[in-house]
Formats: sequence, C-alpha cells, structure tokens
Amino acid sequence: WEGTSYEWSDDVKSTLENIFKIKSFRPKQLSAINSTLSGEHAIVVMPTGAGKSLCYQLPALLRPGLTVVVSPLISLMEDQIRSLTQKNIPAMLMGSTSSKEENQTALKTLIDDKTDIKLLYVTPERFAKSKRFMSNLQKCYAAGRLQRFAIDEVHCCSQWGHDFRPDYKFLGILSNMFPKVPILGLTGTATSHVLSDVQKILNITGCLVLKTTFNRPNLFYQILEKPATQEGCLDVLEKLLKYRYKDESGIIYAHSIKDCEDLAQGLRKRGLRVGCYHASLDADTRSKVHQKWHEKIYQAIVATVAFGMGIDKPDVRFVIHHSISKTMENYYQESGRAGRDGLRAECVTLYRMQDLFRVSTMVFSNNGHLEQLYGMIKYCLNIKLCRRQVIAEYFNENWGSTDCNYMCDVCIHPNKIIREIRLEEHIKNLATVIEKAEKKEINLTALKLLDAWFLKGPVNIRHDGPDPGLKISRLVGEDVIAYLLIKGYLVEDFHFTAMSTISYIKSGPNMEMIKDENFSLRMLVRRSSAFD
Ligand code: ADP
Repeated sequence: WEGTSYEWSDDVKSTLENIFKIKSFRPKQLSAINSTLSGEHAIVVMPTGAGKSLCYQLPALLRPGLTVVVSPLISLMEDQIRSLTQKNIPAMLMGSTSSKEENQTALKTLIDDKTDIKLLYVTPERFAKSKRFMSNLQKCYAAGRLQRFAIDEVHCCSQWGHDFRPDYKFLGILSNMFPKVPILGLTGTATSHVLSDVQKILNITGCLVLKTTFNRPNLFYQILEKPATQEGCLDVLEKLLKYRYKDESGIIYAHSIKDCEDLAQGLRKRGLRVGCYHASLDADTRSKVHQKWHEKIYQAIVATVAFGMGIDKPDVRFVIHHSISKTMENYYQESGRAGRDGLRAECVTLYRMQDLFRVSTMVFSNNGHLEQLYGMIKYCLNIKLCRRQVIAEYFNENWGSTDCNYMCDVCIHPNKIIREIRLEEHIKNLATVIEKAEKKEINLTALKLLDAWFLKGPVNIRHDGPDPGLKISRLVGEDVIAYLLIKGYLVEDFHFTAMSTISYIKSGPNMEMIKDENFSLRMLVRRSSAFD
C-alpha cells in the first residue's frame, strides 16, 4: 500500500505538509490512508501516541462528504475537536454533554450538502438509540455523502479486550446497512484473538490489518518484591517517590478503591503530594484530581484502572503497579501511559503471590478464564528472559534481540539468580497436603496449602515430612505454588456460595505431566529490591 502511486497521492502529500504541518509519515500511516481511500475495510493497530488519528483525519479532507468517527468518550472527542479546530478543519461532536441546539446542528450536517463539516464525532450509542440519527445517516448515504466510518478504540467491541463497551456491538450493522462505506477501525490493542473477534463483530472478517510494533524502547521494566504489609508497601512507595522519582510525575495503580484510599492517605502522611482517583468519586472531583496532577501539584495519582483512557499527559515518568493487572494486555495498556514523550520512563510492578489469588477470584467470576491472568504471573515470575521478550511473545511479535540495552531488570542483572530449587520433593509434599484435604473434604485455598506445607494451620492436613522452611523461605514457597499454577500442575477452581467466594486447589500435581517436562522440575528464583 505504500509503494504504488495513486491518483490522490499528490493531494495526500500536500495536505500532510500544509494542513497537518507534518513532514513525513510514521510507519503504516500511509498504508492506512491509501487503503481506506481505495475503499478497503481496515484495522489499524498501533500503540498509543503512534499517530492513529491522522489515518482518518487526513483522508477526510481529500473528498467531499462526511467522515463519521465513533469514539467511546466525550473527553477524547473534545481533545480531537480542539486539535482539529487549531488546524482550521471543521468538525463537530454529538454527545451527552452538548446542548440540544448543538446536537440538532450536528444532526442537520448529515442531510445538508452545503455543510463544511468534514468530521462528525459520535458515541456508539447513537447507532443503537437514536432513530433520528440513523435516518439522517441513511439519507447521507443515499446522497453519496457518507465517506467513511472511523471507529476509534475499536477493541471496545470485544469482550476479550480490556475495555468492553456493550454499545460497540451495535456497530456490526454498519457494513450491511452501508455496504459501500469503508470502515477504518483503530486500536492500541494488539492481541490476535481480540482482533479477530472485532472483525467478526463488525462483519469485516479477513480485512486488512495494519500493525506496527508494540515495542516501547524508552520504557524500563522492573518487578519488585512486594512487602507483606501495607506499611511495608508504603515504605517502598515513599522511597521511590522521594528519591528515585523526585520531582517527576507518575501513576500508582492499585487493585481496589480501598487500597487506593489507604495508600494515598499513607503517602500523604509521609509528606508526599498524591491524589486519589477511582470510579466512586464524582465526575467533578475526578476532573479536579486529574487537573492537579497535570499542573504538578500532585506528584502522583493513586488510582484504580478507572483512571485510564483519555490520559494525555506526555511526561508521565513512572507507572507503579501496587498490584498485578488482570492480564498482560491490561498491564501493557496501563504501564504504557508512561513515557509518551519518548523519553525514558519506568514501569515498576510490586509482585507477591497473595495478589494472584485476590485477582484470580475476581477474574474467574467475571469470565471464568484464568489463562490471561497467568500470562501476567509468568511475566512477574520470569527471571531468565528479557522482560521485553516476554511482552513481545505475548503480542506474537519478535523484537529482534534478547536483550534490551539495559532497559529491564533482568538485562541489568542477568546473572542475579539467587538460588535454584529442585521441585520434586516439594511437589510430593504438596501432593500429600492436597490428598489429606480432599479426604477430609476441606477446601484448600492456595494460602491454606502454603500453610499446611510449612507445617502451620490445621494439624490434620499438614504434610508429614520436614519443614520446608529449613530449605526455602515462605516467600519462595509462594513462588513455587504460583509456578505450579501457571504451569497447570496445580489447578485453581472456585466455589460460589451466596455469601462468599472461595478459591481452592482442585487437584494434586500431575506427576506424569511433570515427568514429561523435565526442565520444569527446576525453578530459579531471583529477588530484586527497590534500590539495588
Ligand atoms: P494515537 O491516536 O495513536 O494515540 P495520535 O493520533 O493522538 O496518537 O497522535 C499522537 C501525536 O503524534 C499527535 O500529536 C500527532 O500530531 C503526532 N503525529 C501523528 N503522526 C505524526 C507524524 N507522521 N509525524 C509527526 N507527528 C505525528
């Protein structure tokens, strides 16, 4: 799509330079523009900040008629309208915050062939809920003025994505109702099953997919051992904010609203300037917190994942995860909010096994699939591979080298493996605990399993051998159990009762399976602290 010269090629070039004031295209932008101008359906997959908007904004100017842009958030639309207005490109939005008159005018542009509006931004629920909008859209189509649909954040169609929006499902009607109008989907989500799901939902299976690399060479990745207590975590966060990230801006992601509030309060007590952001704050408070962070009154925001889409601060220097993300994909999105300006920024995760079980209960009750969460745990437990390589593999990409120029903790200390653990003996002891619990019909959570293995908790399920504490610490014991879970040797299952949700270990380690995979009888452990 880039080598050929098209009848519009000269116009593309001059519009790029004169209107957008840009000298050259970034990877895949020209392909996206040429394919959509040729009438092809396409999906553009680029990490945030790579320049997806240009792929539909530039084509919108080359021909008469309207580009209808679907976007999930009013704040995103407003940003876009602002930047288009600066370039003297006429654009409008229809949304819940616009006045009645504004929405009426926007509706009229669809049936007004004299309008100078080139781009009309709408939320997906318009297609589902507004008859007037749909009928005007049909008139626009019948008059040959509907140029293109651009669907921003197109992964919102898929339940597999990290931001499912039910209203996006209605967009499936577009390709049937308006068969001559090309669809251009845009997303920063790269997993192949999300992409194929999106194509199915939009009825554009097999369409062109234009994907750039997801490598973010300016991001430094690190896993830190998470202290067992909240005070311990506050100590680590305090040190990071006071010393390593002094005078810099960042985000601290926490698992729950309560964690957010506790951490924010704890950090304030230690003299740090931090805001707190989560879904149960009202819109006004949230926007004030956001603003103070932008103005550097707050050094950091302690937030749940509700703080996400629409963050447009380029100089976020650190993103710390106080708890693991639900999936590797979510982790990539959340940590990827760092370093949009291309300068070095750091993505630090505090990991400890307890979090796996907190999150797994939630993930299981949402969709019953733990594989994606285990992908996240693999990333945390990984000690041999460059962390970039683990991310690349997750996105089915090859980022070329096995080290990343010292931009992750593993590549900085490639030899820092503290000890090697033979698993056979441990596995046998764990198996006896599980067997005893099954016989006595006792539900075994991972933590109870850990206790019984370390000769604690109810006597009747403890294993009969020596205390493993003599050989490995409890912390390493946690790693062993997490490792056996992600390898599938231990299986987590869940009971749901009216009052509680209990996870338990369903079956003992499958020794046959383990024997087949000799290498997994060894596990390597490494620990890094915040300041080594
Ligand atoms: P995305 O939607 O992929 O997150 P945007 O479309 O918001 O990214 O673009 C991010 C920034 O990059 C914008 O400021 C935009 O003007 C700029 N940009 C886009 N394409 C180019 C380019 N080819 N050269 C230079 N800057 C570009």
